[in-house]
Amino acid sequence: MKKSDVEEFYHRLSAANPAPKGELNWTNPYTLLVAVALSAQATDVGVNKATGPLFKKVKSPKDMLKLGLGGLKEHIKTIGLYNTKAKNVIESSRLLIERHGGQVPDDQEALEALPGVGRKTANVVRNIAFGASTIAVDTHIFRIGNRTGLAPGKTPLEVEKGLLKVTPEKYLRHAHHWLILLGRYVCKARKPDCPVCPVNDLCRFKGKTILSIDGGGADAAFDIVGAGAGPGVQMMHRSDPVLGVKKRQQHAPAGPVLPDLGIEIAPDQRRGAEGAAERVAIHADDVGGGQLPKPRRRRFWNPRCCGRGGP
Ligand code: SF4
Repeated sequence: MKKSDVEEFYHRLSAANPAPKGELNWTNPYTLLVAVALSAQATDVGVNKATGPLFKKVKSPKDMLKLGLGGLKEHIKTIGLYNTKAKNVIESSRLLIERHGGQVPDDQEALEALPGVGRKTANVVRNIAFGASTIAVDTHIFRIGNRTGLAPGKTPLEVEKGLLKVTPEKYLRHAHHWLILLGRYVCKARKPDCPVCPVNDLCRFKGKTILSIDGGGADAAFDIVGAGAGPGVQMMHRSDPVLGVKKRQQHAPAGPVLPDLGIEIAPDQRRGAEGAAERVAIHADDVGGGQLPKPRRRRFWNPRCCGRGGP
C-alpha cells in the first residue's frame, strides 16, 4: 500500500473513533494482565463476566495468592482452558511478587518470562497499561494486515514488524485497537462487510464483497448501502423479476446512477470522499411500474467464493 494510502487509512479510522478502547474490563496493570491472559481463545464478553466478581476481590498478585488456585478456578470455570489458565495466573502472580515487587513490569522480556504470557499478551499489556507503541497481532490484525496490503506476512511476527514499519508514528498508540475493531466488526473473517467499510477504496483485497440489491424494508423500499471504490455507488444487480433488472452494474458513475431502474441518487446521497457509507432509500414508486416487491433480506456475497451468479 502506498504511503499516502496508509496515512489516509489510519486517518479515517482515527476520525471515526479518536480514542478507541479495548473491550476487556480491568482496573490496573495487574488485572489487565490477568484479563488478557484469560482471554486467549475466549470472548471478551465471557472473560468480563467472570472477572467482574473476581476483580472485586482481587486487585494485586498478593490478593490472587490469597484466593488460591481453587478459588480462582471457581471464578473462571466458565472460560475455556480455565485449569491451565488458573495455574499460569497463580504462578505469574507468585513470580511478580518474587521478581518485581508485586508490580507488572513495562518490559517485554520480563512479561514474556511469565507463564502463559506470550508476545501478543505482553504487547497488549504494554500498549494499554503503559501507552507503549506496540501492535499485538491477533487473528483479526493478522487478517487485516494481509487482506488490505497494509503489512502482508506469513506469521504474526512478520505482520507485526510490517505494521510497526508502515504505521505513522502519530497513529501507533491506537493502531492496535483500530485494527482489532475493524477486524471484529467490519472486516470479518468469513464475510467482510466491504460495502460499508470505511477504507474500502484503499484496501487491496481482491475478494471484496459487493452488495446485492434486494427489495426490502417497510413499504417495500429498496435499501442500498452505497460504498465503493471512488465516488459513486458500488452495487450488484441480480436478475430481479420485479425490477426487470437483468444485468450487473458496478461502480455506478455520478449523475443518474441507476438508469436501469430510472432512479437518480442525489450527489449528497452518494458516497463522499471521506469514505463514509451512506444509506440510500429508494421507494418503490421511484422504480419503473411502482410494483411492490416482496421484502427480502439484504445480503452480501463474495463473488470469489460464491461464484459470479450470486447467492
Ligand atoms: S474493504 Fe473489505 S477486505 Fe478490505 S478492509 Fe474493508 S472489509 Fe476488509
